Amino acid sequence: MLSLLASGVAGTGVPAWVALAYLASGVLFILALRGLSSPQTSRAGNRFGMIGMLIAVVTTLVTHEIANIVEIGVAIFLGGIIGFTIARRIAMTAMPELVAAFHSLVGLAAVLVGWAAFLEPGAFGLLVDGSIGKVSRVEMALGVAIGAITFSGSVIAFAKLSGRMSGSPILLPMRHVINLGVLVAIIALTALFTIGAVASQEYFIAITVLAFIVGFLLIIPIGGADMPVVVSMLNSYSGWAAAAMGFTLGNTAMIITGALVGASGAILSYIMCKAMNRSFISVIAGGFGAEDGGGASGEPREQRPYKQGSAADAAFMLEQAEKVIIIPGYGMAVAQAQHALREMCDLLEEKGVEVKFAIHPVAGRMPGHMNVLLAEASVDYDKVFELEDINSEFAQADVAFIIGANDVVNPAAKTDKSSPIYGMPVFDVDKAKQVFFIKRSMGGVGYAGVDNDVFYMDQTMMLLSDAKKMVEEIVKSLD
Ligand code: NDP
Repeated sequence: MLSLLASGVAGTGVPAWVALAYLASGVLFILALRGLSSPQTSRAGNRFGMIGMLIAVVTTLVTHEIANIVEIGVAIFLGGIIGFTIARRIAMTAMPELVAAFHSLVGLAAVLVGWAAFLEPGAFGLLVDGSIGKVSRVEMALGVAIGAITFSGSVIAFAKLSGRMSGSPILLPMRHVINLGVLVAIIALTALFTIGAVASQEYFIAITVLAFIVGFLLIIPIGGADMPVVVSMLNSYSGWAAAAMGFTLGNTAMIITGALVGASGAILSYIMCKAMNRSFISVIAGGFGAEDGGGASGEPREQRPYKQGSAADAAFMLEQAEKVIIIPGYGMAVAQAQHALREMCDLLEEKGVEVKFAIHPVAGRMPGHMNVLLAEASVDYDKVFELEDINSEFAQADVAFIIGANDVVNPAAKTDKSSPIYGMPVFDVDKAKQVFFIKRSMGGVGYAGVDNDVFYMDQTMMLLSDAKKMVEEIVKSLD
């Protein structure tokens, strides 16, 4: 048995136990993705992923004479400390920009591995008749190009999401022609790099530089509410870059993992495009949110009458209600109001009120943002509903309780063709008998920067305050 495991897999030179270990980690990654598809199983999913990664890393370390174990140990230790510190300190609201920053590192790693392989092909076993093999050249060029696009694109996404750069699209004249031209140039250079008698360094430099430029050019015109799709699209790119590098390094685990990340990122991008009623091509083409209607453009908005209420008013009406639907959004995350909200929900249920949560696929600032916060506050999963499952229930609801959400309840998405969020499916809160809208001021706008007619409806009561403070006061009034 042992000799069987030590023997090579036919034609690859890879010992059987290594192939089995990589296969096991691949299966664990698939189980991880499956687990992460539902809040109930997500912890188990994370554990599968961690074990899979441990097996992959240990197998790679013991089978490759890459560097000495002390150097690797120091690198893992330092990287681990940095990752641990960032993960402990990061606010949930800053998660998307952190994810973008991490994607940029994956892209950069792919570029560096590609260059290392180019400069020392012998060490990577890529030499065929004294020059880098043609198939390896395609893999290297693809890996470096996708990696460089992921790197510069993610840096721009990070800068936009963290407010270091304006979130609105920057539209260059003839940008589609320029982008297409650069992409065609990269493909042509990859072909020249592959068919040449020797692998030309000039071509490889040109591919790398052009790919960095195209990543930058692709992301600067994207703005407004399209950013979530971009982050998941870059996630997908980082996976494909890793998969391409897996081929260069002859590492099965990297190929499997890269393909899983690439495919799941692409599926997520597709689901999010559907949730926002945007075509993938129009997201990539960019320019969404260029003409913001409200506060983001700095234009003063017309003053319209609205009704304002207090926590006591809200508590009184909530107690009388039979059915309340809560719509959380980005503001709930900013205020960290989820625990107070759970308390409010418990008190209302004790009084016989039916309470449900309605989650929009792009509420907050990252996919699943609201689900994570509600799970943290131990809200029962069976009270949490997706847009398409609950939208028809607003007509029977006594109260639609909007807490820190804005764009996801904006009816302009259904009616106003000039609105930057036109076409995005939104909650039909206007069908509820009463609407309570928690936000800090009438001046603040949502991510897309547009005014919201819900503020001014007859049945709307504005509860202007920090979300956590307001809910805590409602809880006091309910007690
Ligand atoms: P919005 O960004 O539309 O609105 C947030 C609301 O919260 C505003 O009305 C704001 O008003 C209010 N708010 C902010 N802080 C507080 C606070 N402390 N207390 C009370 N209210 C507060 O949020 P939505 O969740 O409705 O929509 C998400 C938007 O973000 C969509 O446009 C989506 O496309 C985009 N997006 C989503 C990502 C994702 O992956 N989910 C990633 C990136 C963008 P005020 O300032 O007056 O308090």
